[in-house]
Amino acid sequence: MADCLFCGIADGTIKANVIYQDDAVLAFTDIAPKAPVHILIIPRKHIASVLDIEAIDSGVIGRIFEVAGGLAREQGIADRGFRLVVNSGRDAGQTVFHLHYHLLGGRQMTWPPG
Ligand code: AMP
Ligand code: ZN
Repeated sequence: MADCLFCGIADGTIKANVIYQDDAVLAFTDIAPKAPVHILIIPRKHIASVLDIEAIDSGVIGRIFEVAGGLAREQGIADRGFRLVVNSGRDAGQTVFHLHYHLLGGRQMTWPPG
């Protein structure tokens, strides 16, 4: 989608530190990390938010979770624990309207989140 930052990263026109990619999913490090490990996992397809996920997207959503688990192991945060976060809409603080899963780990998390 034109003017979408993460579509630009997915098609390579915008630079990012890509650490995993396949035909459906891309993962890259967050530019402003909130934890020692902070990776964003996105579908290549432009889906604006959780509210825009359709039945046809179930495959890629499942793939994102599979990739998240694999990256958690690779990054050494699987045993200690980690968090997968999807901010949706204004109150949650979503700033980029291309669906993305934050994989956060490497420090003690607090609950409830702020
Ligand atoms: P959210 O607030 O949930 O929409 O998350 C958007 C995330 O994208 C934030 O954590 C930003 O730090 C991150 N971000 C914004 N621009 C870039 C970029 N060019 N490369 C990597 N991460 C980015
Ligand atoms: Zn997009």
